[in-house]
Amino acid sequence: MGRIRILSDHIANKIAAGEVVERPASVVKELLENSLDAGATDILILVEAGGRRLIRIADDGHGMLRDDALLAFERHATSKLSDANDLLAIATLGFRGEALPSIASVSRLLLETRSPDEESGTRVEIAGGRILSCEDLARTPGTTITIRDLFYNVPARKKFLRSEQTELAHIASLVTHYSLAHPTKGFALQHGEHDLLHVAPVETLEERVYQVFGNQILQDLVDIGVHERDVSIPAPYVPEEEAGEPSTRTFRLRGFISGPQVQKLNRNSIYLFVNGRLIRDKVLMHALTAGYHNLIPPASYPFALLFLDCDPEEVDVNVHPAKTEVRFRHSGTVHDFVRDAIRGILTERRPVAGISAVPVVSDEQPGAQLPYSEFSQRMENAAYSQPPPSELPVMQTGLPEFTLHRPLASPAPRFAFQDSEPTPAGSGGGGLRLPVPDTHGRVLPESALVESPTLEALKDLRPLGQLHDSFIIAAGRDGLWLVDQHVAHERILFEQVMRQRGRAPETQALLMPIVLQLSAAQQIEYARIAEELNAMGFETEPFGHRTIAVKAAPAGVSAGDIEKVLFEVLEIAEKEFRKASLEDMRRGIAASIACRAAIKINMRLDQRKMEWLLQELAKTEHPMSCPHGRPIALRYTMREILRSFHRM
Ligand code: ADP
Ligand code: MG
Repeated sequence: MGRIRILSDHIANKIAAGEVVERPASVVKELLENSLDAGATDILILVEAGGRRLIRIADDGHGMLRDDALLAFERHATSKLSDANDLLAIATLGFRGEALPSIASVSRLLLETRSPDEESGTRVEIAGGRILSCEDLARTPGTTITIRDLFYNVPARKKFLRSEQTELAHIASLVTHYSLAHPTKGFALQHGEHDLLHVAPVETLEERVYQVFGNQILQDLVDIGVHERDVSIPAPYVPEEEAGEPSTRTFRLRGFISGPQVQKLNRNSIYLFVNGRLIRDKVLMHALTAGYHNLIPPASYPFALLFLDCDPEEVDVNVHPAKTEVRFRHSGTVHDFVRDAIRGILTERRPVAGISAVPVVSDEQPGAQLPYSEFSQRMENAAYSQPPPSELPVMQTGLPEFTLHRPLASPAPRFAFQDSEPTPAGSGGGGLRLPVPDTHGRVLPESALVESPTLEALKDLRPLGQLHDSFIIAAGRDGLWLVDQHVAHERILFEQVMRQRGRAPETQALLMPIVLQLSAAQQIEYARIAEELNAMGFETEPFGHRTIAVKAAPAGVSAGDIEKVLFEVLEIAEKEFRKASLEDMRRGIAASIACRAAIKINMRLDQRKMEWLLQELAKTEHPMSCPHGRPIALRYTMREILRSFHRM
């Protein structure tokens, strides 16, 4: 007797469920896609307890015929593919016929559906993959699927679910994504009694962006219009004499992107769709980042909502069971097309930021023209969250550059004179030893050309004045500096708070305790972080039902700001700290305190204050970016100044 046995469908479904159904949001995704595939125009999603207790999706799509309603729960039953050739050009969101049987195998599922072609509808009840009942049902055309008690029969999986809030956040983000991809459909998402999203069908993407994100974000965005690129594709594997005309494929890109003034700390505001399908894709992500290369700091991300449409044959969506990854047949073409389109838009609408208006004598191509081949090779070695080395700005300190059109990684800078001798970076005060005579024959001091900014230079910055009562202008030995006074002070205070933590921090007692009313969620967060808050200089204690009394606060946080700081900390705690380490939580609290206590912009500073600020900044460990990741200082290097004046 052999040892190999064929698995029963029951077990196979449970295994597939492990791949397709990771968490409540994956269920929502599959059901939502089915509703869209069924041509629905209105989709209502109701969840309870973050989707663990209940997920219900009701649509007004074409429903299912009686026979199909049962068949849909058979493994690999789908109405969307009929032969393997269809796999080459998938136009629907679903196609594997795996979702319904998988979901049904790990939950209690109720299907209520009716096709307009039949008089009555069908009601099917399934639990743990076993059909409990199948009956007639009176209802309007469309489909409602209710999932209760997800993973009730898979305790191991259930244990891995995150908190209700986290699961809900995943669902909300997912529904938001789909609503953006389908502006002409209406979506409603309810969590228990609460409406989380409710958007009526509209005609344009812009209207949908407005509905979802509001006017403020819309104002930061640029409509990129429609970009097209035709690519001729030779017919593969055909002898030359038999090959006909090469076929042409059109790639089309549309959507909205933010200008360089928007700098996000993570990728959460990047929404990428390929043929209407929400995807995570390294090639597209890299193309987008390359488009912004040098326009925003290396560790920051734009807001982007991009739709790439192409011939279904150009993209393989059958790479991942949850269909969130794709493989492009001509990924290099796709990459360069997207990068160039983004770059083009950003260059066209060159922002007034920085000193970019200074005429830069440059005949180099703008932007990062990292060839795709090089990129893909690097991708093999490095995680894409780490930009390839040549993508890092020329300066290593995280200082953003003034000029937008700074050539990157250009092999031989034009200013490399014959007799120049580059000194390796990091060899203190290095740089190019260039005798640079100006037109009058004078030679500039060598030190003026130090190219890699040493933080040393910070120590002897000489404040010249303030720009708009917000930015300190300072002369340094390596160029002209602009320092954002608010974020500079924020950095100083942040490090101070972190240092003092737990060691009798400087506090100010309040004459009258401030009493704060907390929501249920905030109450939970408060209990979790109270000790940490106290170590940072807050003196708080519970004060009746969902109420706390604040008796003292860190020195520097004004009485009027205490409430704001605490609520801000609770909010971050709710959103981020749950996943974060204790250390991250401390940093978050310290950053929030520092931000509130720091001098603001639009505030006049006298000479002594400016000097003090620059000196204190120079003493910090990380003087170049604020605790939230924003740049603190911009530098216009001597070299750039000289080049702009045609002096080198
Ligand atoms: P797939 O979407 O890959 O075909 P599913 O398991 O998700 O596989 O669904 C199986 C089949 O059930 C679909 O092919 C479709 O015919 C039918 N179906 C599922 N959901 C709906 C719905 N909301 N409306 C109409 N038909 C549906
Ligand atoms: Mg499906």
